[in-house]
Formats: sequence, structure tokens, C-alpha cells
Amino acid sequence: MRIQTPAFILDETALHANLTTLTHIKKQSGCKVLYAIKALPSSHVLDFAKPFVDGFCVSSLFEAQLARDVMGTQGEVHLTTPSLIAQELYELTTLCSHINFNSLSHHERYATAVQTQAQIGLRVNPKLSFLSDERFDPCRAHSKLGVDIDALWQSSLLEEKSLHGLHFHTVFAAKDFTPLLRTLDKLRRYFGRQLEKLEWLNVGGGYLFPQIDDYQPFIDVVTTLRRELKVDIYIEPGNAVVGNAASLKASVIDCFESDGKHIAILDTSINHHPEVFEYQRILPVAEHDPKGQYAVMLAGGTCLAGDIFGEYRFKQPLEIGDTITFNHVGAYSLIKANRFNGHNLPTLYTQLLNGEITLLKGYAYKDYQQQWLMHN
Ligand SMILES: *Cc1c(COP(=O)(O)O)cnc(C)c1O
Repeated sequence: MRIQTPAFILDETALHANLTTLTHIKKQSGCKVLYAIKALPSSHVLDFAKPFVDGFCVSSLFEAQLARDVMGTQGEVHLTTPSLIAQELYELTTLCSHINFNSLSHHERYATAVQTQAQIGLRVNPKLSFLSDERFDPCRAHSKLGVDIDALWQSSLLEEKSLHGLHFHTVFAAKDFTPLLRTLDKLRRYFGRQLEKLEWLNVGGGYLFPQIDDYQPFIDVVTTLRRELKVDIYIEPGNAVVGNAASLKASVIDCFESDGKHIAILDTSINHHPEVFEYQRILPVAEHDPKGQYAVMLAGGTCLAGDIFGEYRFKQPLEIGDTITFNHVGAYSLIKANRFNGHNLPTLYTQLLNGEITLLKGYAYKDYQQQWLMHN
């Protein structure tokens, strides 16, 4: 089919491979797997993932509602958020099977109300940093994410048995399991046999399973914990499910020179993948050839001077009408995309296992109008 750019194209072959990897890890270790839907909450992904996972992990009422829209009453929905809102609590308890409080204060306020409806967990901040950029580090100084491990120790909550589980999530795009092993060591040193009083331990997301070669350390530690503590172990990957499973295809709409550099303006922008600007992320481009003779700055079409994807190299000069494919854009891209400058969102397609591409959803002026026209 003819693809209308800018196009966000899901790759079901990659999605299937990622979910198969997770199923393998699940079978070998006995862990439970939740998909963290915030990475890409498209119902197409949720429907696809449903047979492979034990449930979904969510961070808000809307995500919990969407998870239930897809799953019905089957499966688990785990909520973890610093943004628990009193007025939403009742509805959340009807949607979620597990609620992880982010603080001792929320636990104290809401545990009684939640207790009869959902499993109660607490997010702990193990105070072990593995990330150099503190913007991604839940264990940074003055962290707002989770209960300080020392405060949890002093609270005696584990001894009192007022929790069903503990949750931690401390890494981002990790490619080996050292952080997991060290964090679990620290938890066991602090709480020892008190952990046996729990029913589960949720070790979060952040591991890029498809890019890790050796799963044995993970399988070993999960097997040991399940045997010694008699607890269920959950993982909740987002990026590992969808990160490499989508591309963004754009067309070149203008080419010119500026201070001696070739510029190509695209019909997409950093607003379709804000992390390019926020975190200076460099996206892989399918047409890029490191030995290519022609260097071109790929730029978005908005009014922002810094709306630039970066400099890439090509075998041929780019021309108006050429297409550019950014790979590896499945996670944290479309969900953060916006219509700044009145530019439309990308059209959504999916590439089936047989290679065929089909349309999932397109947006029109009426979607922009519905958001911004305040009178009717
Ligand atoms: C974001 C997040 C995840 C998923 O993280 P990935 O890096 O996409 O695997 C899982 N759990 C929690 C609590 C999160 O905040």
C-alpha cells in the first residue's frame, strides 16, 4: 500500500521476537511479565502482547482504563505512580489488581481503602545509582520516586506484614543484569527473612532484554529468590517490548544550503519524538551510510531553530520527495508526540508478520479542532 508520511510503522516481526524472548525468560526463570504500557499504549500493541504477558503495568487512571478496555476482567493491572489522586482512588481499585504506593505518606493515607480491593505494594528507593544522567536516575539525591530504603527499614512495615509486595525500578536501557543483582543483594542484606513475608517482588523495567546476550544471571537470581523467599517475581519492561519495533518514515520536503551545509527539511519534526531534543538522542537512520559522500543535516519542519535530528551521510544527494526512515522509535516517541505548529501527528501503520503493511489510524483536522476549538 502507498504509505502517507510522516508514518509511524509498527514492526510485528520485531514485536513478536521481543515477546518470544520474554516468554523464554519467563519459562526459564518462573518470573511474571507485565508490559509497561506508557512506552506505547496503542491498543494494537496491547492486543498483540496480551497472550504473551501476565498483565500490564500502568501509571495513571487513563492507562488503567485503557489496559482494562483491552483485557477486560482477565489478567493483572499493576499501578505504580507518585501521582495517586484521592478522587481517583476508588475507580483505580476497581481497575487495578495491584497498587504500589510511592511514599509512606500515601501508604498511611490510602492502604486501608485499597486493602480489600487490590494487592498493596510499596515502591522502594534502594539508594543504588547506576545512571550517570540524574534526569533518569530514580536513586538521585532528593528522589521523588519510592520510599528511601532506610526509611522503610525504620518503618517496620515489612515486619508488620502490612504489605503484599515491594517494587523497585532504578535503571534505564540497561544491557546487563549487574544493577539487578546488586540491588537484590542490598535488599536482602537490609531485610533478610522479612522478605519471606511478602507475596511478590516487582523488579521494574529498564532492562533491554532483546539486546542482552546472556540471560543466565537473571534466570539464576529469579530462580533462587523464588525458591528461598517463596515470592513471585515480576518484571515490567516497556522499551524491551516496543523499542526496536517501530520506525518513523518521513519525506524530504525541501533541500538547500546554509553556511556551507546541506539541509533537508522533513515532513516530521522533533515533536514526533521529543526525546531527540530533550535528551539529544541520535536516532538510527536506515538510509544513512557512514561512508556516504553526501553529508546532510536532517531537520524538522517547525519554527524551532533547534528542531534538528542531526547530520547523517548518504550515497546520493537527498532530493525533494526522498524518504528517510528513523529506526528504533517504538518507545516514548508517539506517546510524547504533539501537534505543535499545527502539524499533524504521524499516520499509524503496522507491518504484519508476512511483510504486508496496513493502515491502523490516521488523524485529520477534526482531531486538532476537537482539542483546540473552545466554542461550537
Ligand atoms: C517507565 C517504567 C517502566 C518501563 O521502563 P522501560 O525502560 O521502558 O523498560 C517500568 N516500571 C516503571 C515503574 C516505570 O516507571
